[in-house]
Amino acid sequence: MTGSLEDFARTKLEALEAATLRRRLTPTARAPGAAARRGQAEMISFCDNDYLGLSQHPALIAAAVGATEAYGAGAGASRLVTGDNPLYEAVERRLARIKGSEAAIVFGSGYLANIGIIPALMGPGDLIVADELIHACMHAGARLSRAEMRVFRHNDAAQARNLLSEARGRARHCLILTEGVFSMDGDRAPVAALAEIAREFDAWLLVDDAHALGVINGGRGSGFDEAGARLKVDLQMGTLSKAVGAYGGYLCAARPVIELMVNRARSLIYTTGLPPGTLAAAEKGLELIETDAALTARPLAHARAFTDALALAPAQSAVVPLVLGDEGRALAAAEALARRGYLVTAMRPPTVPAGTSRLRFTFSAAHLAQDVAALAEAVRDVVPGPVLQEG
Ligand SMILES: *Cc1c(COP(=O)(O)O)cnc(C)c1O
Repeated sequence: MTGSLEDFARTKLEALEAATLRRRLTPTARAPGAAARRGQAEMISFCDNDYLGLSQHPALIAAAVGATEAYGAGAGASRLVTGDNPLYEAVERRLARIKGSEAAIVFGSGYLANIGIIPALMGPGDLIVADELIHACMHAGARLSRAEMRVFRHNDAAQARNLLSEARGRARHCLILTEGVFSMDGDRAPVAALAEIAREFDAWLLVDDAHALGVINGGRGSGFDEAGARLKVDLQMGTLSKAVGAYGGYLCAARPVIELMVNRARSLIYTTGLPPGTLAAAEKGLELIETDAALTARPLAHARAFTDALALAPAQSAVVPLVLGDEGRALAAAEALARRGYLVTAMRPPTVPAGTSRLRFTFSAAHLAQDVAALAEAVRDVVPGPVLQEG
C-alpha cells in the first residue's frame, strides 16, 4: 500500500523529471589537485568552491586532526551553553582583522548566518531592498524576518536608489542585500555605489562575500575599494566553507551588532557549535589567506586565462558562467565534459532563472595552467560556437 505522502513525493518527482529538473546525489571523492573520483572515473573538478584548494591542504588537515585530538569530535552544545570552544576567539579575531571590522561572529554555516542575521535586524514595518539574484539563504532570512521585500534588477544601483526614494519613508529600518561576487554569474556587485545609497537613505548594507573572500582584493573580499580602503559595508557576511577550505559562516560588523547576534540570532543560539577540528582548519585557512598573496591571486588568474582562451568577457572572479539556456543542453554539455575528464555540474532552475541553465566553471589555486588550457580546448569542442561568441 502506498500512502498519500509517498504518492505526493512520487508525483512531484515525476514532474521534475519531465521538466529535466530532477536532481540526484552523486558520491564524489575529492583529492588534492582538484581531483575528483566518481565511480571509476578520475576527473578534474572545475565546479567546486574550494578556490584555494585549502580543503586538501596538509596544514588544514593537520590542524583539524590536532584539534580533534585535543577537544573531541563534536562541540557538545550550543556556543551559548558549553560549545564555545576557545578556537572561536582566534577565528573571529582573524576574520575581523582581514575584513577591517571591529568584531566578528562565527555561525554554523553561511546559510545559518543569513537566516539568523536578517531576522535579528529586520521585522514587520521594515524594508528589505535586494538584488534579484541574491542567494536562496538571503531570501530565506528575508522571509523569516517578515519585513517587506522589494527587488531591483541585477546590479542596477540606480533602480535600488529609486526603490529607496519611493519606499524608505514608510519603513522604520531598511536593509540592502547583495553579493560581493554573484555565485552563479561570477560578476561583482557595485558595492561602493550601494554603500553610498545606503548612507544617503539611512539604510544598512549587507554584502554576502561567500565567493569573494580569498579571491578578491588580495583575498580580503569585496568590502574594499581599488586602493584597499574599507567601503562602508555595515554587515560583511560570508562563509568558511568555500575558499577558507573548512566549514562555517561569519558576520563582521561593529561590536554592538555582533553582541546583538549573540543575543538574538536564533540560528546561532539554538544550534550546536562547530566541531573543534573544523574551527582549527578554518583558522589555518584564514591565516593562509591573510599571509599568502601569491595563493589568493591564482584563482582569478586562471579564470582570466580561461576567458581569454575562449574570447569571453574577462572573468571578474573565480566563477565563469557559460549560459546555454535549455536544461537539456546544459546537461548534455556537462556530460560531454565529464567524458573528457572534467567535472562541471550543469546549473538549472531554481538555482538559476528559468531559461538560463548553464555550465558554471570555477577556478582554483589547485589547478595547473595546463589543466585550464586543456579545459578551454574541451569546451570549444563540446559547446556550440554561437554560444561562445555570445558569451
Ligand atoms: C554558498 C553560499 C552561502 C552558504 O554558505 P554555506 O557555508 O555553504 O552554508 C551563502 N551565500 C552565498 C552567496 C553562497 O554562495
